[in-house]
Amino acid sequence: MKNNREVPLKPEISVEMASRIKNLPPYLFATIDQMKQEAMAKGVDVIDMSIGDPDLPTPDHIVSAMKKAVGKPEHHRYPSYEGMLSFREAVAAWYKGRFNVDLDPKTEVLSLIGSKEGIGHIPLAFVEPGDIVLVPSPGYPVYPVSTLFAGGKSYIMPLTEDHHFLPDFNVIPEEILKKTKLMFINYPNNPTSACAPREFYEEVIRIAAKYNIIVCHDAAYSEVYYDGEKPLSFMEIDGAKNVGIEFHSLSKTYNMTGWRIGFAVGNRAVLAGLGKIKSNLDSGIFQAIQEASIVALETDDKVLSGIRKIYQERRDVLYNGLVGLGFEVIKPKASFYLWAKAPKGYDSSGFVTHVLEKAGVLATPGNGFGASGEGYVRFALTVTVDRIREAVERIKKIL
Ligand SMILES: *Cc1c(COP(=O)(O)O)cnc(C)c1O
Repeated sequence: MKNNREVPLKPEISVEMASRIKNLPPYLFATIDQMKQEAMAKGVDVIDMSIGDPDLPTPDHIVSAMKKAVGKPEHHRYPSYEGMLSFREAVAAWYKGRFNVDLDPKTEVLSLIGSKEGIGHIPLAFVEPGDIVLVPSPGYPVYPVSTLFAGGKSYIMPLTEDHHFLPDFNVIPEEILKKTKLMFINYPNNPTSACAPREFYEEVIRIAAKYNIIVCHDAAYSEVYYDGEKPLSFMEIDGAKNVGIEFHSLSKTYNMTGWRIGFAVGNRAVLAGLGKIKSNLDSGIFQAIQEASIVALETDDKVLSGIRKIYQERRDVLYNGLVGLGFEVIKPKASFYLWAKAPKGYDSSGFVTHVLEKAGVLATPGNGFGASGEGYVRFALTVTVDRIREAVERIKKIL
């Protein structure tokens, strides 16, 4: 261009989004937050049970460890890409203690900036344009979006109550399985709160081995369980390490959602691929956070059972309250969610809007987790028992 000077002094460019994000709906929880802000602006005292973000603080001993770690100059420099070896050793020790699973901390553990980061990046390492990724619906919204970003195609596996919210592999056509590169599964499940039995994982391993599919199991809620019934790790099952990895997080276990630390364990070739993406995109986790997280992973089980007890009381109050009002509710064995059917005459969004506007109670519409969640709503147990009681009272008045 030879006449640059003819361009006006304050030009405005037209900003065109790339097609990979142009038609994406806004992130589910951004939309819900907006609904909440609007209700609060009208003066409504909103009981927010929409987001899976623990209201309880990070336990004191972890916060103290962080305060000490943050003062150490050696932590102020770039961390290593794969995570400090001492952190990865603590993860391996935790898996051994909790699941009796042996992991090589050098090759079978990778640190993540929260498990969302790993879930968001993994398709970039393995999915070619047009490859199929099996994605559960309802499910964590990041699985189909990360698939899309990599140019892959999501094939939806509906999770229905009559199939215990487990995917039915028998209904997936053979030609789809042949084109499948990767599968996401998640138990204890968000949003349905279902757990998976050993036989299910064995079936997953057989299918993965037969069709050469990378299994990505998201175990973010393995430590939030009820009635003393501990969920399984995918890694406990014979052959799991040959077909995939497990994502994990400190977020939900230790009330550390704001800290941004998680990890993936399992198949070393899969972890190497994810690590290659990460080493080109991020520079690891602040080492002070990793040092405090070592302390977190060594937390006495008494502390965790205290947290579980709080969730269990909340679960019982909300479950009994909603059942008393005639709702059909799945009683969670794990996770801090209640998956309930919207009453007759309402779809997911209609009911969420009604309950927010008339009762000031905010839940998440089930269809936000995928079309198969239509007709359900999700309540998060992240408010106090008193607020849950009040929420039930308020809902009672508007039914
Ligand atoms: C909360 C959540 C995550 C993400 O947790 P991070 O904070 O990124 O570790 C991953 N999967 C599911 C199903 C979740 O609910």
